[in-house]
Amino acid sequence: MNTSVMLFSPPITTPSIFPLPKTHHNRTSLPSSRKQHQGRIHNTRKFGNFLDLKSEYQPEALDFDLPLFHPSDHTCFNVIIIGAGPAGIRLAEQVSLYGMKVCCVDPNPLSIWPNNYGVWFDEFEGLGLEDCLDKTWPITSIYIDDRTTKYLDRCYGRVNKRKLKENLVKGCVFNGVRFYKAKAMQIEHHEFESIVVCDDGVDLKGSLVVDASGFGSKFIEYDDHKVKNYGFQIAYGVLAEVDAHPFDLDKVVLMDWRDSHCRDGNAKSSTFMYAMPFSSNLIFLEETSLVSRPALSHTEVKTRMVARLKHLGINVKRVLEDEKGLIPMGGPLPRIPQNVIAFGANSGVVHPSTGYMMARTMTLAPIVAASINQCLGSTRMIRGKQVYANVWNSMWPIESRISREFYTFGMETLLKLDLNETRQFFDAFFELKPYYMQGFLSSSLTLNDIVWLSMSLFAHASNPSRFAIARKCPELLAKMMGNICLEFIK
Ligand SMILES: Cc1cc2nc3c(=O)[nH]c(=O)nc-3n(C[C@H](O)[C@H](O)[C@H](O)COP(=O)(O)OP(=O)(O)OC[C@H]3O[C@@H](n4cnc5c(N)ncnc54)[C@H](O)[C@@H]3O)c2cc1C
Repeated sequence: MNTSVMLFSPPITTPSIFPLPKTHHNRTSLPSSRKQHQGRIHNTRKFGNFLDLKSEYQPEALDFDLPLFHPSDHTCFNVIIIGAGPAGIRLAEQVSLYGMKVCCVDPNPLSIWPNNYGVWFDEFEGLGLEDCLDKTWPITSIYIDDRTTKYLDRCYGRVNKRKLKENLVKGCVFNGVRFYKAKAMQIEHHEFESIVVCDDGVDLKGSLVVDASGFGSKFIEYDDHKVKNYGFQIAYGVLAEVDAHPFDLDKVVLMDWRDSHCRDGNAKSSTFMYAMPFSSNLIFLEETSLVSRPALSHTEVKTRMVARLKHLGINVKRVLEDEKGLIPMGGPLPRIPQNVIAFGANSGVVHPSTGYMMARTMTLAPIVAASINQCLGSTRMIRGKQVYANVWNSMWPIESRISREFYTFGMETLLKLDLNETRQFFDAFFELKPYYMQGFLSSSLTLNDIVWLSMSLFAHASNPSRFAIARKCPELLAKMMGNICLEFIK
């Protein structure tokens, strides 16, 4: 294996955020080794049970001199962005590139985002953001079951949250974005102006308001002809110092569906493990329920993770960071258009079948920014309803809305499959041509591609899977077609 990986030990002192070395990988041949670990015998009673360990690191906020908005300024902004998460900051940076007056409001605009983000390397490279990955793995592995493992020749990376946020905030500061430290409480709309009322009583005035406040957003309205029937991805993850682990350092584990550690628990609402090995004793491990409805409990997810780690012989010595994920997936799109623009997790861009959103949001920001500039840029006089319609349509053109119906159909199908059917599904999915497989995972397929992919998936599926899909999915198919018709007549 011709791969260079810088190994390192976890620091003894507490860093502001756990530092990971930059790694460089050459292309590699596909793997062969399974480790000596597999035969290990574990007889310690607490082996694998790390739940009593507390996360040791709280990342320190960025140390930056932010240009703040002063209420005495009475500025009327072109755009007010609520939220300094990945979506809000990226959009602020992109819109301000056009010289527009932008204000970003968040109670803690410099805090480090709490989630651990993984992305496909090619997606970030295409955006020129590859420097914001702190570790890459040239190969992606998927354990379908104890006998079958698939290897994808697609590089995966972990986002260096501090670096990405620092880069985006620097861009914002350079382009003149103002920040305001407060929580947005209410939005009032007038014909050509909106007012964001903050929890300290200050009003921010702007021509356009973008809500990038995440899944909990309260300013966005959703289509009322559809029930808000989200699927939920639930995860519990730890960046852990371990005695040892059985995973190769040049492979990220996208999904480990092996479940011989579960006597009976995994057939229904099955969970898998996602793992990013950084060194022989530092690894990010996350037990994940891909999609469930109602949501599987975090307690259940943690219990399964303890059993899995015990089975794999992974003894957690320290928990450096932890995260508890709840990602609503699928469900209705926001009502299009409406006076406030949604951006990020609240805008329907979370991939309904995978829960990913980061790269798509980074990609969409320049498109939405260009549309905002076309309407509000200095030589234009487009304001009010026409701006809302144009900007919403730049984010959700009809083709994307229809594609999303297909992706949501994918999620609904996954919800209906039992563990064996799920395995068969992924067995077939990861045999697709890379263009289709990667395009599906990155939400970049055209409608034609999606139709081809669906047929190809069916053709690749085993007879029992075809039977399961044919038996379980006609109703879902009818619903999807109904939703597509509604998109056309809106
Ligand atoms: C645990 C977890 C792991 C994830 N991992 C991945 C991954 O690996 N890859 C991937 O692509 N996606 C991942 N996602 C999905 C998605 O990328 C994240 O949820 C992402 O953080 C969403 O970004 P956002 O900017 O839309 O919202 P958030 O990150 O939630 O940011 C919202 C911001 O708005 C601020 N805010 C909230 N309310 C207000 C208010 N009223 N006024 C002012 N400010 C406000 C908050 O302080 C916060 O700063 C993950 C999600 C979770 C929960």
